[in-house]
Amino acid sequence: MAVERTLSIIKPDATKRNLTGKIVAKFEEAGLRVVASKRIHLTAAQAGAFYAEHKERGFYGELVAYMASEPVVVQVLEGEGAILKNREVMGATDPAAAAAGTIRKEFALSKGENSVHGSDSEAAAAREIAFFFSGLELVG
Ligand code: ADP
Repeated sequence: MAVERTLSIIKPDATKRNLTGKIVAKFEEAGLRVVASKRIHLTAAQAGAFYAEHKERGFYGELVAYMASEPVVVQVLEGEGAILKNREVMGATDPAAAAAGTIRKEFALSKGENSVHGSDSEAAAAREIAFFFSGLELVG
């Protein structure tokens, strides 16, 4: 399997509860390496632009307000099959449906406040990494 890079966000519900380290440990235990990381507080405009594909969904306004409510930690994770591996470590969108041992099962509060974001395809990973990081910030 190819070495890939994927974009991860530790979301406001998790940074607020001081869970950043525990979540990063889950990535590292799964063989994913953090090759870029920064803590930022998104504006509503930035959060809205990041989630533009969900603009027509009923929860879009709520999602944007939540993502801009507290700082987030955005990271690039690298590893064999990193895109799918990260999605597996994250678990299902709704924590009630997430598998045991996943980040969302252990830490998420609800379907909306679900602790982590992860790119869901190669195209999304490329777009989302470029949204937050310049090439100079990726230090594999
Ligand atoms: P995922 O993050 O698992 O890829 P989606 O792309 O479907 O899930 O949704 C993006 C984000 O929007 C979710 O992670 C969650 O924070 C939020 N979201 C999704 N569905 C709902 C919902 N029904 N109500 C509130 N927020 C939601």
